[in-house]
Amino acid sequence: MDSQDVIIVGAGVIGLNTAYELARNKIKVSLIDQFLGYRKASWAGAGIIPPGNPDLAANPADWLRAKSSQLFPVLSSELLQFTNINNGYFKCGGLELTSCYDETNEQAWANENINFERISEINLKSLAPHLDPKHCKTTYFPEMAQIRNPRHLKALTEACKLLGVRFYNDCKITGLIKKGQQVIGLESGSGVFNAGQFIITAGPWSGDFLQEEKIDTHIFPIRGQMLLMQTSLPFKEIILKEKCYIVPRGEGLVLVGSTEEDVGFNGSTTSEGKDYLFKMACDLIPQLNNAKIIDHWSGLRPGCSKNSPLIGKSPESDNLYFAAGHFRQGLQTSPATALLIKSILMQEDLGIDNQYFMKPNEQFQVSKPLFQS
Ligand SMILES: Cc1cc2nc3c(=O)[nH]c(=O)nc-3n(C[C@H](O)[C@H](O)[C@H](O)COP(=O)(O)OP(=O)(O)OC[C@H]3O[C@@H](n4cnc5c(N)ncnc54)[C@H](O)[C@@H]3O)c2cc1C
Repeated sequence: MDSQDVIIVGAGVIGLNTAYELARNKIKVSLIDQFLGYRKASWAGAGIIPPGNPDLAANPADWLRAKSSQLFPVLSSELLQFTNINNGYFKCGGLELTSCYDETNEQAWANENINFERISEINLKSLAPHLDPKHCKTTYFPEMAQIRNPRHLKALTEACKLLGVRFYNDCKITGLIKKGQQVIGLESGSGVFNAGQFIITAGPWSGDFLQEEKIDTHIFPIRGQMLLMQTSLPFKEIILKEKCYIVPRGEGLVLVGSTEEDVGFNGSTTSEGKDYLFKMACDLIPQLNNAKIIDHWSGLRPGCSKNSPLIGKSPESDNLYFAAGHFRQGLQTSPATALLIKSILMQEDLGIDNQYFMKPNEQFQVSKPLFQS
């Protein structure tokens, strides 16, 4: 490999989108992952994509979400044309249920020019007739969208392959080989990988690399469980209440998520998680009581001790970069994260404060574990 080659560690949505972004800019990329099939958080997630307007975003973290919301339709049709795989991107709209309207949030949405509307009880009946009428403080976001995660990962993988990205699966990177301020290689059970630049997109497993680089930010797993149910109820919009949501997938399938559990690298599912999600779904839509549960899975979100992801160059190495710790927002911010990493690597100016993502930040507020397993 020559000094322009890039190795990315971790083929979740952040690593794949970054590989795609670099490869389409004619950079030679290799992507290494420890698990075949990469059924990690990126596969397990709900694929909710909130709306946004990057030109009016209040801070770099909002910019990531807003820019991605603008990039997703373009990326999705590009991937469809290129690979013939439809990732299911669809502006289905979303209904957020709250106990009272929050004027501070409404001001922030208005400042970013995000379309939203308080829904009267009467309109709610026609928009979501099956919603329990006790949930009457509802805000409608017509531009909220969704994507089918497994299809999106498949499309990105295929596109990367077509662009010449080399994949190394079932290969765990165990350490960095350094010479002064330079990373010269990566250690693995299958030998050493050399390149000019290295990017760590290892999701909740990124912590080991941060420790090696003496970066005082913690990245850790927070488990989320998810149910897939089959129902004959027709509904189109995503329904969100606090940390829970129902996402209609078409053909009577609905996703119900999600728990937030601090249980280490334990990717199993629990009967308590299943019951909690089922109860929560029925509290929102009582008729889901008759729905059939057809699948139940979990994923490990990359929690971060900062309240935003860690994106940028390591302060300890001239050619090592991180894009990790996206917690609940990794899918919805993946296209802009990839663009940002590419612009940092190629020293382009995107007009946002890159340093924001590498500064130490406030302590992460993880909810008390919902369930112990
Ligand atoms: C139930 C659930 C619902 C969610 N819903 C949403 C949602 O609606 N919208 C949203 O935006 N986000 C959502 N998220 C969060 C989102 O899925 C994550 O933020 C995102 O997937 C993180 O992507 P990633 O690429 O950083 O990590 P991952 O998907 O975890 O990928 C990291 C990869 O790195 C590999 N790796 C790690 N260490 C090594 C190593 N040493 N050597 C080689 N490979 C390594 C792993 O095998 C893995 O494949 C959800 C998450 C869950 C669990």
